[in-house]
Order: sequence, then C-alpha cells, then structure tokens
Amino acid sequence: MAANYNPKLIILTAPSGAGKTSITHFLLNHFPQLCFSISAATRQAREGEVNGRDYYFMSMDDFIQKIKDNAFVEWEMVYEGKYYGTLKEELERIWHLNKVPVLDIDVKGAIHVQQQYPQTTLSIFIEPPSVEELKKRLSARGTESEESIATRVNKASYEISFKHHFTKIIVNDVFDKACKEAEETVTKFLEN
Ligand code: 5GP
Repeated sequence: MAANYNPKLIILTAPSGAGKTSITHFLLNHFPQLCFSISAATRQAREGEVNGRDYYFMSMDDFIQKIKDNAFVEWEMVYEGKYYGTLKEELERIWHLNKVPVLDIDVKGAIHVQQQYPQTTLSIFIEPPSVEELKKRLSARGTESEESIATRVNKASYEISFKHHFTKIIVNDVFDKACKEAEETVTKFLEN
C-alpha cells in the first residue's frame, strides 16, 4: 500500500431522476482530490459512453466470475437482468492515486459499501422534492416509457424510505442550492 494511502470514500445515492449524477459531476469538477469510481456493469454501453471511463462494461459470464472471485465491494441487480458492482481494485486504484473515490450507486449498494467502511465513508442521499416532481422529471427526459416511469416512481418511494441510513440528506429542489450544500458537506468531510 502506498504511504499516502487515504481510505476515505464518498457515496452519492438517490432514486432515479433525483439529480445525483449532475451533483456528482459538479463535485468532481469542483474538488481535484476526488476521483469517479468506475463501476462494472453488464448493460450495453449507450451512445457516447466509453468502456473504462463511464463503466467497465462486461459480459454476464465475466461479472459472475468476478462475484465468485470475491472481487466486488458490493454488487446489485439494479434493473431486471442488469448487474452493476463496485470493484475492490477500483477503490484501491483511486486510493493509490491519493484521491478519494466518488461512488454514484443505487441505494442498496450504498448501504452495503457504508457497512464495510463505516468510519471513513461520507454518504449523501439526494432526495427529490416530491415523488410527483420526480415523475414530472422522468417524463420530461423523454427517454422512458410510461411503464418504466411507473416502475422507477414505485422504486423511488421505497428507496426514499431508506434515506435516514445516510450521513447527509440533500433535497434537490433548486439545483444550485443542492450543489452548494453538497460542496459544504464534502469540504468538511475532507478537512477531517
Ligand atoms: P445507468 O444504467 O443509468 O448508468 O445506472 C443505473 C443505476 O445503477 C444508477 O442508479 C446508478 O447509480 C446505479 N449504479 C451504477 N453503478 C453501480 C454500482 O457499482 N453498484 C450499484 N449498486 N449501483 C450502481
């Protein structure tokens, strides 16, 4: 392990459509000592996504082999048949750079990671202002079917019920305000 080994980590979690990815980008741009933790995923790459930058895209067989090899800190079937996971070696890679990994992962995965690093994790739950607003945002994206929106909205209510498991809850009603709050929270965390 490098002498400058830094075991801190930051998790951002939220129901789909709450704005967690935008807030994650804001934090990564704002703090040079943070580094995005690239997850493994079995879904197809979307247009513009790059293997090894957005995800480590892998086949189901390779993913199952990694589960058997105990290579994951956590993994989840986030959507029907689609697996996502945080690789232990990805966190090690970032810590060796003397940076703090930022994980953008689902609620169950976030709880699992936090249980493994309880003393050194900052976990931020991004809460939508209301389930109705979330539904509006998902519809406005125009990428989801009515059925997919209904599934995500139902899942969101369930996920919101776990919000008190996390270090900090930020309500994303006004994006700039939510970013400011996230910035202050991360600044304090990095200082300690
Ligand atoms: P997408 O397919 O839209 O990129 O991501 C779908 C969901 O999977 C998002 O909520 C994202 O945060 C979550 N996710 C991405 N990587 C991981 C991971 O490594 N573990 C878990 N548990 N969830 C992940």
